[in-house]
Amino acid sequence: MLERGNLGGRAVTLKIKDFSFNFGAHAIYGRDTSILRTMEKELGIHIDWVDFEPNKAKYDIGDRLTDVPANIQGLFRTAVLKGTGKIKFTFEIFKTMLRLEKGHPHLSIAKWMEENNTSDDVKEMMLTLASSNFFTKEPEKIPSDVFFRYYQRLFTTNKPVTYIGGGWQALINEFVRVIESHNGEIFTKTKVESVLASDDRLTEVYVPNAVYAAKEFVFCIPPKELEKIFVDTKIEHSAKQYSSYEPSYVYVYDIGLKDRIEVPYTYIYDKKNRIFITDISHYDKTCVPEGGQLLQAVAYISPDDLKDKEKIEDYHQRIEALYDKHFAGWREQLVVPRVSKRAAAQEIKWTMTQDPMPLYFPDYRNVFFAGDWCQGEGQLSELSFSSAYEASQLILQKNE
Ligand SMILES: Cc1cc2nc3c(=O)[nH]c(=O)nc-3n(C[C@H](O)[C@H](O)[C@H](O)COP(=O)(O)OP(=O)(O)OC[C@H]3O[C@@H](n4cnc5c(N)ncnc54)[C@H](O)[C@@H]3O)c2cc1C
Repeated sequence: MLERGNLGGRAVTLKIKDFSFNFGAHAIYGRDTSILRTMEKELGIHIDWVDFEPNKAKYDIGDRLTDVPANIQGLFRTAVLKGTGKIKFTFEIFKTMLRLEKGHPHLSIAKWMEENNTSDDVKEMMLTLASSNFFTKEPEKIPSDVFFRYYQRLFTTNKPVTYIGGGWQALINEFVRVIESHNGEIFTKTKVESVLASDDRLTEVYVPNAVYAAKEFVFCIPPKELEKIFVDTKIEHSAKQYSSYEPSYVYVYDIGLKDRIEVPYTYIYDKKNRIFITDISHYDKTCVPEGGQLLQAVAYISPDDLKDKEKIEDYHQRIEALYDKHFAGWREQLVVPRVSKRAAAQEIKWTMTQDPMPLYFPDYRNVFFAGDWCQGEGQLSELSFSSAYEASQLILQKNE
């Protein structure tokens, strides 16, 4: 295994002043039916699962907080939906669970809802949910078939959101253990710079001062980098197509606090601004020094705002205002702030005009791809795990 930097990529845990920051959050959605759960069983890795508490999740709707309809109790208590809206929304959930709604690949979810005369409050509820699960400020652009496939699984799971105790680093350690115990070798700080291909297969990869030949290759490298590596090969053009696609960008502003600020919620979603704060340390006690607290705020960024410095700065101000509103006194307790102004939560955003990358191209049948820019199950890291699993299965079956 050849890795350009240190292990983990965006799924990395950084220790700063005794606080462990996970660059991308380590929330796994629908863990009981997830590929990570399959990997746990098949590879014998151990994961310390810590389930999210839906009763501690709130929507900030301006003048007050209300329950997130993440379970039946939340659905009955929430003020986001009114009486008939609740019934209609429940009905939509049942239809999705029973696969009566499948959507259509050529209809965005917004268009689908328009054609099905979905009422305004149910429409808003479904888009709010999708915004947080797909990490996007433009949930209306999600293809409707992708939407319903995603929620069919999420609505039928008993474990909608779960954290990995010890953060991504704990998972990395487990993968390393499995690779090394099977005589695999890992080389970090080893960048793949180019490749050599014969007519119909890849034969070698080049890193500084070394060449590796192999029978099969799996590239878990984002399309923008793949494009450079595959220059002058038959798949240069295909890699280029996927590298031109837009990622889902978010603004991340984490804070490590000296003393906990006790509040009755662990998750706040500001509906208007599409910003959420999670009390990560409530779930993962290992990420803070004794008595401390680690809060993570994420704002979904509109693509138009990316080039505008002032608008990006505005995300910072809005996040701080949200901290002020719900975690009063945080400024006095602040030990470490950690900001990423433009973090790619997913390398290819799933919209009507973009497609995820396939796991292989017909030109070279011994080259596979995996990552959150590839076709697979779920969204975010689930796509990385499921594409990697599928690529491995294809190789194993070929070599049986
Ligand atoms: C703010 C934020 C919040 C998130 N929250 C969640 C969440 O709650 N739940 C969730 O499931 N996911 C979440 N994610 C997404 C998750 O972090 C990513 O989906 C996941 O880390 C992608 O992993 P990957 O291995 O597919 O890609 P990457 O992490 O991008 O890994 C690619 C790897 O390739 C290496 N590489 C690149 N070029 C070369 C080269 N030439 N040679 C060798 N190596 C190379 C890189 O160094 C890197 O290690 C979040 C992401 C962000 C940014």
